[in-house]
Amino acid sequence: MGGETTEVIAHFDLDSFFVSVEIRENPSLEGRPVAVAYSNEDFTQGVILSASYEARKLGVQGGMPVTQAKRKCPELEIIPPRHGFYSRVSKAVFEEICLLGYEWKQTSIDEGYLRLTNAFSWDEIGEIESFGHDFQDRIFSELRLPITIGICSTRTLAKITSTISKPKGVGVVAPSKVIRTFKSYFPKIIPGIGVKASEFLKQRGIYTIQQALSDFPPSNKLVGFIQQVIYQRTSTWFGNTRKRKSIGKNRTIRAKKEEIGRVNAELHRLISLATQKLKTENLETRTITVIVRDENYTTRSKALSLSHSSQNYNLLEKVADELFSILCPVPMAIRLIGIRFSNLEKIDPHQSKITQFLH
Ligand SMILES: [Mg+2]
Repeated sequence: MGGETTEVIAHFDLDSFFVSVEIRENPSLEGRPVAVAYSNEDFTQGVILSASYEARKLGVQGGMPVTQAKRKCPELEIIPPRHGFYSRVSKAVFEEICLLGYEWKQTSIDEGYLRLTNAFSWDEIGEIESFGHDFQDRIFSELRLPITIGICSTRTLAKITSTISKPKGVGVVAPSKVIRTFKSYFPKIIPGIGVKASEFLKQRGIYTIQQALSDFPPSNKLVGFIQQVIYQRTSTWFGNTRKRKSIGKNRTIRAKKEEIGRVNAELHRLISLATQKLKTENLETRTITVIVRDENYTTRSKALSLSHSSQNYNLLEKVADELFSILCPVPMAIRLIGIRFSNLEKIDPHQSKITQFLH
């Protein structure tokens, strides 16, 4: 394995995103073979952009011409796409992911990665699994969209884990179980290995990942690539930046209007947790953001940047209280409350010694 600590990386992918959004908006489509596609009245044009799992079971696939899909599944319902609407829903999903408070990266309209390394360790795989289920439940309860999560030690393996866990799955593969889990799959399950590469491998008698691993030392580049992936030597996170971007804490609270005191107390508790985190990571924050979601699921936030970075609880609490009073000038029902510290700066121990000396 590459580094000194084994990374914990999650890949998340909304299940048949466009179709799931349409089902959410029109629940009568639930459980039926449905696909999103541009087409004409007699279905002689267009390709399938997204298909429900019921349609997939009947042979309909993304990228398939509508004519062919209709032949395979005459009852298939075709819905024209609403791209602007899907983008807005996607934005709401990523706002929710941002609230989780981990490093994250969006890679497409409905997919991305989370870096959980600082929060979890592979010795406590049960905690990683319950994180996956909580994350999935949260996306469903807040946005009514099904999502699959795959967690492993590299980006590529996390993505393969989510692929084999679809739909509505939570897959967790411990680093020690990687070979056992993936050995009987076709190499095509690895992102980057398409139809052409699979053909090339087949011509050389390689049909499974296991067979690619036995070809050692690798007789060609492609086999070498498969070995790199399975031996967990491919990239873990994006770029080399190991710097934390923000520390966030938030909680679903479901407080009534009369319970504003409970919301305040919870905000203070979250500030205290986030401040602890700043201290253990030797960081100070310059920007404080308070996040509030009301009973209508509208999320609002307000931020303030300090002139100097700080990790002082009393100061951060004062700022947060002020931001909260701007967001909630009158008591209101609150569904979620959160705090985020960003613009983080590492405290240089050497620097502080000099300052002490000057005093
Ligand atoms: Mg997807």
